[in-house]
Amino acid sequence: MKILDQFIVKTLPLVPKPIVARLSKPYIAGDNLDSAMAVCRDLNEKGFRVTVDILGEFLTNIDQAEESLLGYKQVLEALVANEIDGNISIKPTFFGLLLQLDRCRELLHELLTLVAKHENFMRLDMEDTPCTDMTIDLYDAYREEFGPKRVGIVLQAYLRRTMDDIAAITARGQSHFRLCKGIYVEPENLAYQGYEEVRANFLECLKAMFDAGAFVGIATHDDYLVAESEKIIRERGLGPEHYEFQMLLGVRETLRDQIRAAGHNLRIYVPFGKDWYGYSVRRLKENPALAGTFFKAMFIKG
Ligand code: FAD
Repeated sequence: MKILDQFIVKTLPLVPKPIVARLSKPYIAGDNLDSAMAVCRDLNEKGFRVTVDILGEFLTNIDQAEESLLGYKQVLEALVANEIDGNISIKPTFFGLLLQLDRCRELLHELLTLVAKHENFMRLDMEDTPCTDMTIDLYDAYREEFGPKRVGIVLQAYLRRTMDDIAAITARGQSHFRLCKGIYVEPENLAYQGYEEVRANFLECLKAMFDAGAFVGIATHDDYLVAESEKIIRERGLGPEHYEFQMLLGVRETLRDQIRAAGHNLRIYVPFGKDWYGYSVRRLKENPALAGTFFKAMFIKG
């Protein structure tokens, strides 16, 4: 990262919220369900599948988790009513994972019952390491009850444990993964820190998932990983029933068009909602073009 970018990343918490809001616009499908559905329809028309995420995580009060459930039920009903080719992604902490595990389990069970009724699908996003074991346990229990076509989990290539998790999870049943690099700050003893180390583990994890016969959502905007994943897919003669690519809304749209044009299925992660700040800051920290955009936003009104 360039020195100017590093400086901006460090000072990002000091940036006024209206500027962060302006910068994060391409990454967020508005603050309400109607705006999210409009973005989903548009993406479907362009040939992309979607997965919808309501922004919000790390609740302070378990009662807020009831609102999370209500919000996601509305998303599901809207996906069905609008005939959208899409599903939902949830963060377990948004359902109170770290506050009251039993209540979190019940609420997600209620949501999955609706997912199953609509023959839809729910992805458990993976958060930071205090959540990893609990999220895997939730996945195991729901997969057992609702079947592997209704629920999936995310594993992060930067974690040293992930190869072991793949072996354990796939040994327990048919699995439906999203594989990503991982976005949270984790200590060296838990996570690879080097860019190349993470890339290498990503590809080892991908192969291990395919070896086990799992479906994989290959979630990356990294040209190298896209090309290497395509190579693995080609060498193994895998069809669309084994994988799809996944990308975040607003990120590297040229690459996503190229992936689609090459004939792969591609799902776009569509976040929306009022609680956009934490998500936006994480996205902006990842963006190397941040410096230019930041200064433009500082000086251009509109
Ligand atoms: P990078 O090396 O970070 O990026 C590759 C290229 O894409 C670089 O050129 C980079 O500049 C560009 N790029 C990346 N981000 C941006 C951006 N915001 N704006 C502009 N350019 C950008 N992480 C989790 O920990 N848990 C999850 O559940 C999770 N779910 C995800 C779901 C999807 C669909 C995707 C795509 C990512 C998800 N992530 C999740 C985030 C992921 O872990 C990475 O942090 C993120 O995808 C960046 O890694 P990368 O593979 O794209 O590689």
